[in-house]
Amino acid sequence: MEHIKSILKARGLKITVQRIHVYHALEKLKHAPVDEVVKVVQLVLPSITIAAVYNILELYAKEDIIGRMHTTDNKLFYDITSTPHSHLYASTEHRVEDFMDEELKALVSDYLQRKEISGFNLDDITIQLIGHFE
Ligand SMILES: [Zn+2]
Repeated sequence: MEHIKSILKARGLKITVQRIHVYHALEKLKHAPVDEVVKVVQLVLPSITIAAVYNILELYAKEDIIGRMHTTDNKLFYDITSTPHSHLYASTEHRVEDFMDEELKALVSDYLQRKEISGFNLDDITIQLIGHFE
């Protein structure tokens, strides 16, 4: 409970019961679309609306407290980790997991440093691998 409270406080944002539970729901889910977050929050706050959960998630994303990612088939997932990183995406079950592979990132980065893309400056690399979990 203390973690999100101190984040909100440090940013001068109001601490509300709804905001705390939305954060903890995403902390549990790690990556989730808004409707999945709603289901988890409603276990403790049954009357919370989808719009309220959405607004809180968008506020957190705007403040870089959480991340936001679109899958290649255009589904929006909120991500408890806000820094850029790569993902595994199982498109049939709509499941996202982190894929932290510094070696792959270094490999692509090295390649692109040699290759250079004309008229484009590279800031970061995030990779989405599409497949299915066993
Ligand atoms: Zn992630």
